[in-house]
Amino acid sequence: MSKQSKNPETIALHGGDYRSDPATTAVAVPIYRTTSYQFNNTGHAANLFALKEFGNIYTRIMNPTNDVLEKRVAALENGLACVTVGSGQAASTFAIVNVCQAGDNFVSSTDLYGGTVNLFTHTLKKLGIEVRYADPSDPKNFEKAIDEKTRCFYAETLPNPALRVFPMKEVSDIGRKHNIPLIMDNTAAPIICKPLDHGAAVVVHSLTKFIGGHGTVIGGCLVDGGNFDWTADPKRQPLFNEPDMSYGGAKWGEVVPQLTGANVSFAVRARVCLLRDLGAPLSPDNAWGIIQGLETAPLRMQQHCSNATKVVDFLQKHKNVERVIYPTLHKGEIGDRTKKYFSGGNGALVGIEVKGGVEAGKKFIEALKMFYHVANIGDARSLAIHPATTTHSQLTPEELLAAGVTPGYVRLSIGIEHPDDIIADLKQALDASGKPSLKAVS
Ligand code: PLP
Repeated sequence: MSKQSKNPETIALHGGDYRSDPATTAVAVPIYRTTSYQFNNTGHAANLFALKEFGNIYTRIMNPTNDVLEKRVAALENGLACVTVGSGQAASTFAIVNVCQAGDNFVSSTDLYGGTVNLFTHTLKKLGIEVRYADPSDPKNFEKAIDEKTRCFYAETLPNPALRVFPMKEVSDIGRKHNIPLIMDNTAAPIICKPLDHGAAVVVHSLTKFIGGHGTVIGGCLVDGGNFDWTADPKRQPLFNEPDMSYGGAKWGEVVPQLTGANVSFAVRARVCLLRDLGAPLSPDNAWGIIQGLETAPLRMQQHCSNATKVVDFLQKHKNVERVIYPTLHKGEIGDRTKKYFSGGNGALVGIEVKGGVEAGKKFIEALKMFYHVANIGDARSLAIHPATTTHSQLTPEELLAAGVTPGYVRLSIGIEHPDDIIADLKQALDASGKPSLKAVS
């Protein structure tokens, strides 16, 4: 039975309880393009609003198309519940705002997607929530940063540009000593890494990337691992232990396990408070688009990862490549983390330093014929970007180096095309990057 299957290929197609549409027996998941749902009677409506019964109320909060996606992603991550939202950014925002209020703080890894840095450093600050950054090269930095107002730890499984796998077990162990949950952004490593198995309490995804996989849809989600006791230290987690006056005085840490029989307080609070109040739901059309991607994501991840391995091999031998950045190429303990935390591949992201600095990096990007030059990762197509002249162009040379972006650094997201074609495109562009430009010749 698919429900018991632990295999991602099967879960992606059959996970959750969707077998066919209950009304029409349609096998493909339908798009339930509706805002609202007919209540059976006034008692039914009242019970749904009071959470005495679970069911559809309004599409800002839940939708049957989204529900199929949520159950499958929860199963893929070994989690208990999932809430979809309109983007990966919304997922990161919800993850923090679900545990922190004004006056609180959280500790985040310094290795982060730039959009998340903006959210944490600027926007959450304006809301009164303080981020404290910790360098993950020493997990103890997380412990050093906490105080009595620290509500969670946050990090990415496979952050670029450095592509150093995050020490999940080490940091989650520290967190659990203090009743602080670890929230992991697993956008860059779905299927091949399951942070909940390594101590994380919550996983967030930008579904826009490898799970959607076709560069067509923006979406995000939060997966509740069901493995964190939100009531163990009421002072540490006030949003789960103090009465919520917006919901009749509910104490989320207590009431959700009583009502559902499951430890999914984080997911339920995100849905019934944050989707209710902040909005940002994933539209059912977009949920459907992501389901199409999800159904083949495990197969695509295999091809992404095996292509990336071949690309790394090729790049290491090319004379115009100064350095290749890939998770397994890091020396010592950081490189060993891929063995500890990943299975079935080491990811599709590859960094290269092209010999000759900014000019060579630019030339290389411009010479690519098959790779797309875009600010995205995780598309089925191969993608490339030169951060020094695009995403990071406002930074000073010192800031660039601190972010791990050297002048010639190019980020590649290796697609699922035939590896020979990917390598052929890289080869001709690298050869071109080493040639003097016409301007220099004249
Ligand atoms: N997290 C990571 C690691 C990302 O790379 C991105 C986007 O690039 C996001 C979150 C934000 O996702 P979205 O673009 O779906 O809002």
